[in-house]
Amino acid sequence: MMDSPEDFEPKCFCGIDAKLKISHTVRNPHRLFYNCSKSFDTQCGFFLWADEPEQTGEKHLDELNLIRNECIRLQRRVEELQEEIENERSKWDEEKSKLTSRLSFAKDKLRQTEDNMRMLKESDLMPPTHWSCKADCDEERDAIIKHTV
Ligand SMILES: [Zn+2]
Repeated sequence: MMDSPEDFEPKCFCGIDAKLKISHTVRNPHRLFYNCSKSFDTQCGFFLWADEPEQTGEKHLDELNLIRNECIRLQRRVEELQEEIENERSKWDEEKSKLTSRLSFAKDKLRQTEDNMRMLKESDLMPPTHWSCKADCDEERDAIIKHTV
């Protein structure tokens, strides 16, 4: 199992385990540090960058610690980014389903309008409605046909 900074829990000035936190400042984005675990107004002011572990005096061990902490920092960054991607994706999915339903609504409208237009065109081609009345109109119809021919 890989070592993590949790294995090395520094104590703050209160004598309790310091809490590992992530910096979100512009100068030190996504950098891990240890801080007093008490609330902001009662904490002792203990502060230690997690990627600057106490120097052991052994060059290789110090280098290893720095690399290890950098790995952990990058792992956390990857996790953060994956979470962001997940959020972004669900936002897009939501937007997509909204647009899809609007599209199908618009298609329905278009189909209705096309149907209406077709009906209007067909009614233009159809004989006037009074042609359908039988006896009374037969005479008039004959007259119209005679004049048009
Ligand atoms: Zn403290």
